[in-house]
Amino acid sequence: MMNLMEGKPLAAAVKARAAARVQALQARGVQPRLAVLLVGDNPASAVYVRGKEKDCAECGIASDVIRLPADTAQSALLAHIAALNADSAVHGILVQLPLPAQIDPDAVLEAIAPEKDVDGFTPVNMGRLLAGRLDACFAPCTPAGCMELLAAAGVDPAGKQAVVLGRSNIVGKPMAVLLTAANATVTLCHSKTRDLAALCRRADILVAAIGREAFVTADMVKPGAAVVDVGINRGADGKLHGDVDFAAVAPLAGAITPVPGGVGLMTRAMLMENTVKAAEMAAKKLA
Ligand code: NDP
Repeated sequence: MMNLMEGKPLAAAVKARAAARVQALQARGVQPRLAVLLVGDNPASAVYVRGKEKDCAECGIASDVIRLPADTAQSALLAHIAALNADSAVHGILVQLPLPAQIDPDAVLEAIAPEKDVDGFTPVNMGRLLAGRLDACFAPCTPAGCMELLAAAGVDPAGKQAVVLGRSNIVGKPMAVLLTAANATVTLCHSKTRDLAALCRRADILVAAIGREAFVTADMVKPGAAVVDVGINRGADGKLHGDVDFAAVAPLAGAITPVPGGVGLMTRAMLMENTVKAAEMAAKKLA
């Protein structure tokens, strides 16, 4: 029977767990704080940032959103990051992507202090993740959320064939690393992959993160597979759709995430967990 991997109850549980840790920190005089830098007026980014503020409030995390104009110079953004790096009251720093064209995202991400990099996008964090030092890094929120969804559905990746569609630095690649760390055998696919459908059909765990509506069709899915749909695509109907043809795939999947209401909610929740972890690590250093 198909198991719907819903993000809502699990995200609520992750946030409740984070809130309890926040209270423990507050009892020791530490107020966890996240700083978000938002450059320009991308409407989707504005929505995401509002969601982060709401989540922080729910968990008892203080949040500061620093809104900068679209024509902000890279040097000005770097100056903000340097100030936040030096501010011991700030535990997490997040630069909302995408950035305007005049700013090099790599230069910006490299400037964030790794111990405050709650998105897990800095080279130091990515290196630690690759090295399997999961305790010493912040796993990027989206793949970390996918792992939580699988665990909650009772899907243990150990020994399984996992196929990840998409090799971006923020989703596909770290997803492959996390699944490997959980002892899956991982195939990482992208736009140059040959025989993609045949590879997908072998997957016990299929993660779709490419950004194409209904790309994964029923003939690409092994009956009983766990299907995690990361995609967020605005359809011709004006609604949000995943990368998986949900209606066709759900009846044969062992477990599947809905879009919306799946991975997106978990991404938000994992940011709270990472921010609390950053505050705990900072408090431990001071102790
Ligand atoms: P990117 O555009 O950075 O990467 C897309 C990846 O998909 C690339 O590796 C690309 O291959 C691959 N790809 C594109 N077309 C095909 C194809 N026809 N066959 C095989 N591979 C293909 O996207 P992101 O990783 O940032 O995001 C992916 C999706 O996930 C988007 O819909 C995005 O909106 C969504 N997303 C959702 C989040 C959430 O919280 N739910 C968070 C982040 C993203 P190549 O490298 O060869 O170009």
